[in-house]
Amino acid sequence: MDKKMRLKNSPPNKNRNAGTRAFFADVKRWIEEKKAIERGHFVLASGFHSEFYFQAQKLFQHPEIASRIGGAMADLWKRRKIDKVVSLAIGGIVLGQEVARHLGVCHIFLERKNGELLLRRSFEIGKGERILLVEDVITTGGSLKEAIKIIKRKKAKIIGIAAFVSRRKTQFAYPLKILLDLKLPVYRPAVCPLCRRRVKLSVPGTKASK
Ligand SMILES: [Zn+2]
Repeated sequence: MDKKMRLKNSPPNKNRNAGTRAFFADVKRWIEEKKAIERGHFVLASGFHSEFYFQAQKLFQHPEIASRIGGAMADLWKRRKIDKVVSLAIGGIVLGQEVARHLGVCHIFLERKNGELLLRRSFEIGKGERILLVEDVITTGGSLKEAIKIIKRKKAKIIGIAAFVSRRKTQFAYPLKILLDLKLPVYRPAVCPLCRRRVKLSVPGTKASK
């Protein structure tokens, strides 16, 4: 597992949370103990196929872990003035709440209806508000790009994007801080070696629990 993960954007070691070896060791232990990485043949939300699926919610179902990870992510942004955290439902909600709690700001989320990402529930994004976008796992960043459009339409200011895990290199026009760089290979379906071996394909994350 060590070769597949590394901490990025680590702040100075005086910080007891993000960037310390102890914190990184805890994250690795949580991933193993809580079996957050599943093995099989998966089609990811991005359309890519992978032998591995990282189910971040296996970690976030434990409030103590969600709080530690949210705190570590918040620490990377505490020098910036942030007015509001915006996350993406459903995966980003628990984490968004924790990041916001550590930053001492409020948290709202965007959600999909009929495939379209929307601001609902009378949540508001005000003109000039300084927004931190929070996502649990980034693969292609497609959903985040949709979120950016919504926030720009509201004339708010995007300070940056905070993600727990990145599975692929993704570029945004805003500062991106990722806690954990998870180097798990993904494939376009046309060149997927698991498809070639006819391994049964499954859609993770949405299936009913056994
Ligand atoms: Zn495949």
